[in-house]
Amino acid sequence: MKRSAAPRANVKRATHTADRRPRRQSARAWAPPDDPNIAAAGFLHDMALLQRTERSRFGYKRAAKMVAAGIDRSVRELIAEGTLRDVPYIGPATERIIAELIASGGSAIVADAVAASTARGEVEKRQAFRRAYLSRYAMRQALDAPFAESIVSRATYRGDLQMHSTWSDGVESIASLADAAIALGYTRIGVTDHSYGLPIAGGMSMASAARQHREIDAVNEQFGGRLRVYKGIEANILADGSLDLSRDERRVFEYVIASPHSLLRRSNDQTARIIGAVREPGVAILGHPQGRMYNSRPGVRADWRRVFREAASRRVAIELDGNWHRQDIDFELARVALDEGCLFALDSDAHSLGELPFTDYAIAHARIAGIPANRVVNCWDAKTFDRWLSERRR
Ligand SMILES: [Zn+2]
Repeated sequence: MKRSAAPRANVKRATHTADRRPRRQSARAWAPPDDPNIAAAGFLHDMALLQRTERSRFGYKRAAKMVAAGIDRSVRELIAEGTLRDVPYIGPATERIIAELIASGGSAIVADAVAASTARGEVEKRQAFRRAYLSRYAMRQALDAPFAESIVSRATYRGDLQMHSTWSDGVESIASLADAAIALGYTRIGVTDHSYGLPIAGGMSMASAARQHREIDAVNEQFGGRLRVYKGIEANILADGSLDLSRDERRVFEYVIASPHSLLRRSNDQTARIIGAVREPGVAILGHPQGRMYNSRPGVRADWRRVFREAASRRVAIELDGNWHRQDIDFELARVALDEGCLFALDSDAHSLGELPFTDYAIAHARIAGIPANRVVNCWDAKTFDRWLSERRR
């Protein structure tokens, strides 16, 4: 497999209309992942919304979290074995709902409870905030499934490009992030603390960034070629699509991730805002493009095909942020971005060492979407990656 072959985005294709574009997707066998765990978590979240006491809401929510993100095996297998109740926080009420789901594909218990309640609108609203997430079980299935050799995998992944340190809202020093990255088999990482426009997340002043860069230089010296730490920054996309960092300030960093951190619950179309950010000079990666949060907020609404087309024409990578609550973008949107010719960045967005394995979720979504490793900047050899970064900084 030619990992260094980074395809140039097909700019010409961007002028085609959707109707005239060849239907390449139908040629490829594709099905959404079989994920009874995420379906079960959804029903348990529905039930949580209907509870009258905080205590019972909490009970359903922690059971949902456990089946969604805490167990490696499918609830179908556990039901078949009769061992579902061994899972922490699964009691008789949650077991009945999950058993119904496995037997019938739905839950009459939940449907009746929703129909009898006044919270139906809220339940349906939240259901839309849980679209195309992967459970831990489905993530592991996707990592292990026999996809084609060319598809991105853990084995072809060289390093994580979004993480936060004590220089903003992370809890780890750069040296300990670097140590952990080596243990994960990475040869590079990018530290991307928040920029000063996000004071709530401890955003760095430019003076702090200069001090941070001296620390990164020292860490790079210490790790002597085994791992390279890149000097990234996560800049904010403002309401008008511009960034909180000036053009000169962006050049201080080796790369810029532009991410939305505001206006994430609005129903208006924000295509112009996000395309504006993609067009900003110096942007390498569009970070967690939607800004969505599981069961909590929908994130930005936009014509994503147009956003992806613009990103592809400028070789700005689209991020798959693997943070469990984000999973942004997901396998459905990633297929659209792939179709538009995008490059991708698959990152953990870790704020602690325990969150570094969130890259597995990003890789799993990318595999389900059929993204080849040569479209993923994390998989490129150092020379190709560095050339791409220097092009982005012009
Ligand atoms: Zn962010």
